[in-house]
Amino acid sequence: MAEVGAFYQALPKAELHLHLEGSLTLETIREIEPSLAQEEIRRHYRTSGDFASFLASFVWVLGFLRGPREYALAARRLLERLAAENVRYAEITLSAGVMLRRKQDFDAIFGALRREAEVSPVQVRWILDAVRQFGAAEAMAVAELAAAYRDQGVVAFGIGGDEQAGPVDWFAEVFRYAQRASLHLTVHAGEFAGADSVRRAVELGAERIGHGVHAIEDPSVVRLLSERGIPLEICLSSNVATGAAPRLADHPLPEFLRAGVPVTLNTDDPGLFGTTLSAEYELAARQFALVDEQIRQIAANGFRYAFDFKPPVQAGSDATCP
Ligand SMILES: [Zn+2]
Repeated sequence: MAEVGAFYQALPKAELHLHLEGSLTLETIREIEPSLAQEEIRRHYRTSGDFASFLASFVWVLGFLRGPREYALAARRLLERLAAENVRYAEITLSAGVMLRRKQDFDAIFGALRREAEVSPVQVRWILDAVRQFGAAEAMAVAELAAAYRDQGVVAFGIGGDEQAGPVDWFAEVFRYAQRASLHLTVHAGEFAGADSVRRAVELGAERIGHGVHAIEDPSVVRLLSERGIPLEICLSSNVATGAAPRLADHPLPEFLRAGVPVTLNTDDPGLFGTTLSAEYELAARQFALVDEQIRQIAANGFRYAFDFKPPVQAGSDATCP
């Protein structure tokens, strides 16, 4: 990856769409499995511009996350990288739907993850994510798990996975349950399905939309996002790598900005896509000729639309006095 400009590195940033599983870099995989050749890992990391090949890479990486030790190492390395590029706040998504299906010990894994987060300068919150194509019953089990860990830093329930294979309407009841449990709601939508998938997600209570690329195809959905102030979690490199947007030049980010839709920038799966949050900011600025003020506004949106960002207490302020 080319060197990222100092302005983007130094900018205080928040990450709202970041899968722990997809954050594993080649180096972290080798730390877990030193016997693996670099070329072997590289081969699995090479996606061919479609969702199926991305999913195959994601599943391959999941195989290394066997228990608390591996999850903790993944989190430690991720948080070190985030701190180094001045990411102050991160909502990290865990594929809890996959963990439940693999019958992993969630409590032990989550305990190990929390210990890593506690010693990091990055303010960390967690999102538990269900897999659309696993259906509503398994999604409900994830929502119940999220509710049970609500007081331990889990702030939201989300759904991801194959948008075509699991329409959002399947999950209406699960969303209602999550809302009653005081969980926030973010939905991957408009990534591989059309604008209507985004509309339904909003109508069913989504507070943020993961990706939302295809919302651009229907002006009434763009208006809905702008009028209700529903932010999009835009992930440029991901969208090109998975084919959600055919080419970076075709990405609708500038049109969303013009229409007044709140935009945030995120990495999705920084390990798999070989990116960082600073690199995504620089990519957006270069590709769409955004001025520094627009970049600062997008960075501010990251904090504004975070589900639980707490501004740090300034030294010397009243709040630090006993
Ligand atoms: Zn995602």
